[in-house]
Amino acid sequence: MIYLDNAATTKASQAAIDSMIKYAGEDFYNPSAGYAPALAVKKALGKATADIAELLGADSDEIVFTSCATESNNFAFECGVKNKKGNIVVSAGEHASVYESALRLKSRGADVRFVMPDGNGVVTAEALAQVVDGSTAFVSLIHCSNETGAVSDIKALCAAVKSVSPKAVFHSDGVQAFCKIPTDVHDLGVDLYSVSAHKVGGLKGVGALYVRKGFNMQPFIVGGGQQNGRRSGTENTGGIIGFAEAAKIYKNKAAAFDAKALREAVMNVFDGHDGVRINGRGANSGYILSVSFKGLRGEIIAHMAEDEGVLVGLGSACSTHIKSNRVLGAMGVDRDYAEGSIRISFSPDTTKEEAVKGARVILEAARRLGDTVNG
Ligand code: PLP
Repeated sequence: MIYLDNAATTKASQAAIDSMIKYAGEDFYNPSAGYAPALAVKKALGKATADIAELLGADSDEIVFTSCATESNNFAFECGVKNKKGNIVVSAGEHASVYESALRLKSRGADVRFVMPDGNGVVTAEALAQVVDGSTAFVSLIHCSNETGAVSDIKALCAAVKSVSPKAVFHSDGVQAFCKIPTDVHDLGVDLYSVSAHKVGGLKGVGALYVRKGFNMQPFIVGGGQQNGRRSGTENTGGIIGFAEAAKIYKNKAAAFDAKALREAVMNVFDGHDGVRINGRGANSGYILSVSFKGLRGEIIAHMAEDEGVLVGLGSACSTHIKSNRVLGAMGVDRDYAEGSIRISFSPDTTKEEAVKGARVILEAARRLGDTVNG
């Protein structure tokens, strides 16, 4: 099998699996308990928190662990919007966990405004300036698109928002950026930043939200007062400790991995063919390549590729029951192309050979399917 769906999830690193076994087995103690073995677990949790903080360029007391990035994003929207009267700005290219959170606020009467990404999937300062004004209360913009890999300049966008509306809260979904591109949150200037473990070799069911020091965030989940009252619930000790271990390993591997060169090599397989469109030729992490085939259906191409041993994604918003792809639509991709989209995504473990081979299998499947793809 050639696995090219790393934006959906990554294979867990052995360190993450070992942590889960260790903290479910021999070191199973509740980190909130007072006896010595539990204190050792609490200490290990503190070290993991410091490690994740360091990877984000943050301080330990700015990290809140959650059950996933979907929770982190919901938390940001439910508890990060301080000025209920102000308007809320999100991009039309957000992950569903942000997009649906914004729609929920809209259904409660909030003034929610959408900024369109450009044709490459990038949110520009010009586009943002058209919707942000002095009464903007909350902005959420994805750092790296899970659909196309497009990277928006969060530092510049955050500064631009704060110059127009100094009290506005700025959140960014950094799930596909973390450990892949620079995500120093203090440098970015954001107030809130979401990350997820299973995209970087950790286990599923662990996420985190960076909450800037001094930002008085009320809890979303209340109860036993864990994590200094910011998110109750007994911590997923093995998952969190494994997240920190996996993320450090992933970041080291990513530093030695030329994702952009790999993406370029895969793009070369598709370039020059009629009826094939690459979605996103602007700033990109290099880890995701979205390709569309005119007049075809992405899921059929993906099934044909699977029969040949290649696993690819369709893009998160393009699940089997949602026919049209919202994010590609927002970028101006015609429906004719958008419905025939495939998402190919890499990890530092992906080799050029397997990625190029996988791309050839996909192209061949598209050619067999219809006469719209030629050349
Ligand atoms: N945000 C982005 C950009 C994602 O790609 C994902 C995962 O697909 C999420 C949020 C949700 O992450 P999780 O699976 O941890 O809930």
